[in-house]
Amino acid sequence: MKIVLATSNKGKVKEIKNLCEDYEIIPYSELIKEFEIIEDADNFKENALIKARAVFNALNEQLPSGYENLVVLADDSGISVDILNGAPGIYSARYGGGDADDKDNLYKLIEDIKIKGVKSSPAHYTASIAIVTKKGEHSVHGWMYGTALTKAKGDGGFGYDPMFVPLGYDKTLGELDDEIKKKLSHRSKALDLAKKILKTF
Ligand code: IMP
Repeated sequence: MKIVLATSNKGKVKEIKNLCEDYEIIPYSELIKEFEIIEDADNFKENALIKARAVFNALNEQLPSGYENLVVLADDSGISVDILNGAPGIYSARYGGGDADDKDNLYKLIEDIKIKGVKSSPAHYTASIAIVTKKGEHSVHGWMYGTALTKAKGDGGFGYDPMFVPLGYDKTLGELDDEIKKKLSHRSKALDLAKKILKTF
């Protein structure tokens, strides 16, 4: 089954491909020109649905017939830090400002935790996966709990992974093998649920 991903985030695309080996995963930007999607909801679930719907509609408008049975999947995700009352949460991708990249966001989060006078804080990642097809919409969630450090260690994963130590481990996701994140992650948990839905199509 072909699944079109409503994202061009390289870290997410790599992980989703890795976690969905039985499916053909195609980033939507390989089919149509990338366009801006305004994610203006106040929660992960709605933002994932906004992305999946926008890409589903654009593909249906722009692609020739034969693509009617498209399955579009979107991931909206982020990190929530307890000492920051859950920030950055849904603003994780833009935490360092409009032009910020993953590294800017990572170091801004480290500085904001330091300002609170602590060396670490409990934190968790959330992933909301939305699936949109012509027959309807679905959404599922996954979480990964752990600790956010005020130091970046390792260069594995993407985004905030170099500062996040999963519960039960003493290394960051930047230092741990990809296979460990594959078993533990918010995204893998959400995708396990998404696969149960995809099997019914
Ligand atoms: P989105 O594209 O609005 O869902 O942005 C998600 C942002 O959350 C990413 O750009 C990362 O900053 C962060 N994020 C989500 N999942 C992960 C992960 O698995 N590791 C590290 N950072 C993540």
